[in-house]
Amino acid sequence: MRVPFVAANWKMNKTLPEALDFIEQIRGKLPAENNVESLICAQSLFLSQMMTAADAEPVKIGAENVFWEDAGAFTGETSPKAVASLGVNYVLIGHSERRNYFRETDEMVNNKVRAVLRNGMKPIICVDETMGQRESNEKVHWVVSQVIEALKGVKAEDAAKITIAYEPSWAIGTAAASAQQAEDGCYLIRQTIADVYNDACAEQVRILYGGSVKPSNQAALMAMPSIDGVLVGDASLDPETFLELVNYD
Ligand code: PGA
Repeated sequence: MRVPFVAANWKMNKTLPEALDFIEQIRGKLPAENNVESLICAQSLFLSQMMTAADAEPVKIGAENVFWEDAGAFTGETSPKAVASLGVNYVLIGHSERRNYFRETDEMVNNKVRAVLRNGMKPIICVDETMGQRESNEKVHWVVSQVIEALKGVKAEDAAKITIAYEPSWAIGTAAASAQQAEDGCYLIRQTIADVYNDACAEQVRILYGGSVKPSNQAALMAMPSIDGVLVGDASLDPETFLELVNYD
């Protein structure tokens, strides 16, 4: 059984006092983690303080990116080994903003996925699709190839630790995909994992939808058979809304 997963992506928002205030506001109001797993991905620079503040809470704290080497002369980068040393469980990899603004290629995403796993953490791999690709019917190939490339060299036992987030960039921060469009993308991703590994592995991998998720459209998305949860940007920044999202049922 895949536990439903509600993950926040705060992006480059909130200061340390704001992040700690958010944790105070959700304290004691989160679902038990075997009912719904909840996660907040935030800027690396205050993950440690957030983890201390949320220590007794079921919510997990994750990073939004790491580099693919563990250490060395890479000024300004964030080491996956250093992030793991904080006790962080999850790292977002390959978000469309990283692919678009920072020119992250499929090969870089794959290197990062393997670095996260090597350091005992779990990647949430974001795969993307533009409106142009959807309209020209390239969607299938586009999402499939991103999944295949991201998983190169990853063993089946590690693949089961992975979460994939289907985030069509035309739906991020604008209007959400319909529940059926989201289901189609997530279904295709699970089929791809079954092709790359096997059905048992595909059954274990959690697949999230992301792009303009709010409490008002969440239930329809989560009712879909291939969708195990949501990755939420804007709506996750407000503590009351985040609580509605994690307590959706
Ligand atoms: P959004 O962002 O919920 O604001 O559309 C989702 C994301 O970019 O992960």
